[in-house]
Amino acid sequence: PALANTPTDRDLTDWDRTHNLHPWAGIHGWRRDDYMRVNTAEGIHIWDHAGKRFIDGPGGMWCVQIGYGRQEMADAIAAQTMTMPYASPWSFTTEPAAMLARKLADMTPGDLNTVHFTTGGSTAVDTAIRVMQFLNNRLGRPEKKIVISRERAYHGSTYLAATVTGKERFKTRFDKADDLVRFLPDVNPYHRPQAMSIEAWCDEKIADLETLIAQVGADRIGAFIAEPILCSGGVVVPPPGYHRRTREICARHDILYISDEVVTGFGRLGHWFASQEVFGITPDIITCAKGLTSGYLPLGACIISDAVMERIAGPDENDVFYNGYTYCGHPVSCAAALKNIEIMECEDILGHVRRVTPHFQDRLRHIGETFDIVGDARGMGLLGCLECRLDPGNNSYARQQKFGAELDAACEDMGLLLRPFGNMAVFSPPLIITGAQIDEMFDIMEAGLTRLS
Ligand code: PLP
Repeated sequence: PALANTPTDRDLTDWDRTHNLHPWAGIHGWRRDDYMRVNTAEGIHIWDHAGKRFIDGPGGMWCVQIGYGRQEMADAIAAQTMTMPYASPWSFTTEPAAMLARKLADMTPGDLNTVHFTTGGSTAVDTAIRVMQFLNNRLGRPEKKIVISRERAYHGSTYLAATVTGKERFKTRFDKADDLVRFLPDVNPYHRPQAMSIEAWCDEKIADLETLIAQVGADRIGAFIAEPILCSGGVVVPPPGYHRRTREICARHDILYISDEVVTGFGRLGHWFASQEVFGITPDIITCAKGLTSGYLPLGACIISDAVMERIAGPDENDVFYNGYTYCGHPVSCAAALKNIEIMECEDILGHVRRVTPHFQDRLRHIGETFDIVGDARGMGLLGCLECRLDPGNNSYARQQKFGAELDAACEDMGLLLRPFGNMAVFSPPLIITGAQIDEMFDIMEAGLTRLS
């Protein structure tokens, strides 16, 4: 049937429920009609179709760095659309793609100078793993392909990215290349035994990696992949020294270090990238997406070091790196990314994040100290997580496991959106959030927690 010119609310709800399979939709319950239909957005706020305003706690999906409703973004996107909306990356390059590749090479640490554009984070991770496979096949060591990842890590939803994702639940009923991956146990310092110091916890995590390498054999391990902060895993900030030590171990065993900065890149921690500026390491490969365009258009990138590129280039001059997508370096997405970066530079958004972070983190810690149900309130930069204490023997255990959804519902009522994950609620607001808006956000969270307590 032809679509009506002006669909009613009921039409839209029906069409969405009947035809739009959302990510992670329950296979029986996916025909649900409770997705909030959002109509407009400005700054850190979004409005639903009924006109109710919300602070966007998750910042879209960890991505809307510069906030919504930016005229300059609309203008840049429109201008590129009118001049050159698409060009095949197999045959052509464009000004935005070349400029952005150069810009990313400048922004990333060390000799990370080669940019392979992708359609998002999953395809950036996919590409990084394929780079490792290509490299080791090229070097004549086809056994060196296993990827070490970590429990609770999220790296995406393509076959390879899902394979190295450390959450079994997200792979239910899907195939995955189990022989390609090994997982290190939970690194969350909150989950360490009560009597254990954070230093001892770090030592244990490092020992886990060394033991795994010894068991599997370094000659069979091609890469280690880690988010600087395990974001979807519950904003897990690793113990001090963890990244530096894992990086050293990888270098010693010729294991590529892939830093998945899909969330932590582009200012979330007050720096363009967290690997070097925050954690003091230079990875072999950085993957990024999300904040690269502030979510205005899809784009990702896999950024590879010169050292890796040099080793990839073998004696065969006809060797081809057969990886690519129709939308590699999409000119309109690249124009959006360039404008996004320009806005972040002109408005000193990185400096702003560094200035408001102490207040954000103070309010977060205060919640941890004030509310009994919150076992851990943690974060870094403009990333936060509230984790509900779990007492398996207790009769409120079932409720504790749903803490995230309950807190989200209570806050939603009062105009704040959060992202629930089981017994956790996470948030990563747009980076332009002001001190007063941070207060408003945490005031609502505290009111929500009071309701739940
Ligand atoms: N890597 C990390 C760390 C992520 O958080 C995500 C998405 O949340 C991805 C990769 C996958 O990115 P995308 O959804 O753009 O494919």
